[in-house]
Parts: sequence; C-alpha cells; structure tokens
Amino acid sequence: MALPLSSSRRTTYRLLAVSAAAALGLSACGGSSGSSGAAAGSNYPTGTITMVVPFSAGGPTDTVARLVAEPMSKTLGQQIIVQNVEGAGGTLGAGEVAKAKNDGYKILMHHIGMSTAPALYSTLAFKPLESFQTVGLVTEVPMTIISKKDLPPTNFKELVEYVKANKEKVTYANAGIGSASQLCGLLIEKAFGVDLTEVPYKGTGPAMTDLVGGQVDFMCDQTTNTSAQIKPGKVKAFAVTTSERVKSLPDIPTTTEAGMPELKVGVWHGLYAPAGTPEAVVKKLTDALAAALKEPKVIEKMADLGTAPEAADQVNPAAHTAKLKAQLDLWTPVIKAAGVKAA
Ligand code: ASP
Repeated sequence: MALPLSSSRRTTYRLLAVSAAAALGLSACGGSSGSSGAAAGSNYPTGTITMVVPFSAGGPTDTVARLVAEPMSKTLGQQIIVQNVEGAGGTLGAGEVAKAKNDGYKILMHHIGMSTAPALYSTLAFKPLESFQTVGLVTEVPMTIISKKDLPPTNFKELVEYVKANKEKVTYANAGIGSASQLCGLLIEKAFGVDLTEVPYKGTGPAMTDLVGGQVDFMCDQTTNTSAQIKPGKVKAFAVTTSERVKSLPDIPTTTEAGMPELKVGVWHGLYAPAGTPEAVVKKLTDALAAALKEPKVIEKMADLGTAPEAADQVNPAAHTAKLKAQLDLWTPVIKAAGVKAA
C-alpha cells in the first residue's frame, strides 16, 4: 500500500490518530448509558431523531440515508434529521453513535466500513458486534471505477496499463482509511499490481467534486454517487465491481468481463442504534425502515442510482448481524494481508 506522498495526507493521518484517541476517551461513558427501564420505548418516538452519516453531505452514504429518512419519519411521526459526522474513514461518526444514549434518538447509517474498520485501526471507539444494536440491512450498492474526463485511457484494459505506467503521478481519491473507496483501492492495488498514491477526503461527495474538476485522477465509488456524473459524461467509467452489469448503467462492463473477477465488492449499508436500545424501539425502527424500502418512490430512485432495496427478509436485526459477522470474517484477513493500518 502506498503511503502518502503529500504532506497534506501525512497531516490527515496524524489527525486520524488524535481523533481516534479522543473518541476512545469519550467512549468511557459507553454505549450502555441510557434507557430507563423495561417499559422504555413503548411511547417512542416523542421527539426528533438524528440519523448520523459518517461521511460528507452529498456523498453516496448520505444519499441513501436521506432517501430512507424521509419515509421513515412519516411512519414514525417524528422528524429524522440527517447529521454528517465525517472523518477518519467513517469511524468518528460510528464512534459517536456507539457512545450515544441508547434510546433510539441517535442512530447510524453506515456501510461496509463497519466490517473493515477493526482490521485497520488499532484503537477504535467501538466494537462492531458489541457497541451497536443492528436494525436492518438497507441496500447493497455496486461500485464503479471512474476517472476524470480527460484521463487518456478509453477502456478498462487501457486504464490498467496507464495506471501501471504512470504510478508515480496518478492519484486515487478515497474517503479515508475505513471507507469503501479505500477498500476498493486495496483490491485495485492487488489486481493491477501497483501501489496507489491516495488522496483522502472526508467522503466521496467532495472527492467527486475534485474528480470532476480534474484535481484528482481516478476513484472507485458507489453508483449512488457516480451515476449522476457518469450519465452526462462528466467522468469516464471503466468498470462496475459486480458480477452482473448494472441495469441503469448498461454500457459499463463488469470487472469480471474485464478479466479481473477478484476485483469485486458491493457496498452494503445497514442501520444501527447504540447497544442496549430497548427492543420496542428497535422494532419500531426496523418496521419503519422496512416500510421505507417498500415505497415505490424509494425503489424507483434507488434503481435510477444503480441499486435496489435489500430483500424484505434482510431488513431485520438478525439478518443484519449475520451479514456483519460474515463481512468481518471476509475482510479482516484481506486487510491484514495488505498490511494497511490507520494509526
Ligand atoms: N463512498 C464513500 C466511501 O468510500 C463514503 C461516502 O462519502 O459516502 O466509503
């Protein structure tokens, strides 16, 4: 794994260490602060709910969160505010929800990063399987390998050759250590046989702005962010990281078609509450999420963005926990083998 060339990236990594330590200190008050007895949650919700997104506004995780927050708030009869707590590859926002009061008023929309963070950070303010109560799976989003418009390659094979031949100057944008785009970068490094020069952002929303502006060369990101730029030709798209082509982006070949089947990753998203959240509260959240994912407007918008709601039998805590466990088992050895560490 290439280490940062620029001083700005070194600074970011130092900040990561400081932030992680700060979050750890705060975690002393624990994810179990909170609920007030067995009947807790029977009249939930009586006030505004905050849905934390651990990446920047305008990015793909933010998009998914906002898409379900609106119909969920209608079902629950209370406003859901989306709050972006960005930084440290999604671990700061997750840490904030882990230590929040477990009453259902602060919840987390996260993604595959929940299963990669423990292998990347030696100090984390949370333990994925212990600090959270799973609510349900939301959607699994394909990723696309894209570049700024005027990067010379015109297809995937040329991209591989170009990146290899220009490895000193080609830059790869990601959302920091622990993000899906960083994980995809690891897979790219392995598949292409190169070390990437990474430029970390607090989310791929701002990374996309720089990619469209030509300040950074290429990126791998969810279709929930890239579709809007691929369709009008503001970026070049080389491959999707799924076994099948994406219906809304039919011209983009899969990495399997392009001869790199190992470069496969789907960005699954799940909704979490702090551990110890009363069952009655979790059930209301799960039911509201399930209802949101059945809304024709949500299904249509997701299809337009290259994805679909999770199957109904996956929108519950048990299926979500099973997925989280399986993904921790899948990615931990891959990351350890790559030898990447945040701090
Ligand atoms: N797509 C991002 C990632 O690479 C995060 C985001 O901004 O939603 O994890």
